[in-house]
Amino acid sequence: MRHQPVIDGFEFAESGRVLKGEFPVRDFPRLHDVLHECAGEIGYVVSGERDREGRPALRIELRGMLSLNCQRCLQPLDFQVALDTMLTLARSQFEGEADPVDSNIERVVASKEMAVRDLLEDELLLSVPFAPRHASCTTGGVSSTEGSSPFAKLRGLLGHDGPGGRNN
Ligand SMILES: [Zn+2]
Repeated sequence: MRHQPVIDGFEFAESGRVLKGEFPVRDFPRLHDVLHECAGEIGYVVSGERDREGRPALRIELRGMLSLNCQRCLQPLDFQVALDTMLTLARSQFEGEADPVDSNIERVVASKEMAVRDLLEDELLLSVPFAPRHASCTTGGVSSTEGSSPFAKLRGLLGHDGPGGRNN
């Protein structure tokens, strides 16, 4: 049976609801291009909260492991997902763009039927490095997070340093 929760964004946030579960990695089709294999599961927690300015928001926490392709040796590279992000809800795209927002805050247009899987998939896509490499893949000393997404700094704060290093 497919697990496809849908939430009413503002209602969820304003009543402080919490939704927890997990999705098999294979249920995130937009990630498949960057995966070495579609194995494992991603655990999630979506919490209805308020952002620092008191606006309704969804806090999204994701935990799990993705198997990426090292862009240097093309071998599997374990990537630890440890994501904790806040999405401030907007009533429309216009509101989301017009309202000056702290650069650390992401906006998402809320609806009565927000597909949780799609929200999580968006966050996973943002978190995956653009050109992942094993930290110890070559002697070049290239960081495994080079060329990664705007969330690279967030991962840094979370202490991301996956056990993907493959020794000689
Ligand atoms: Zn490698």
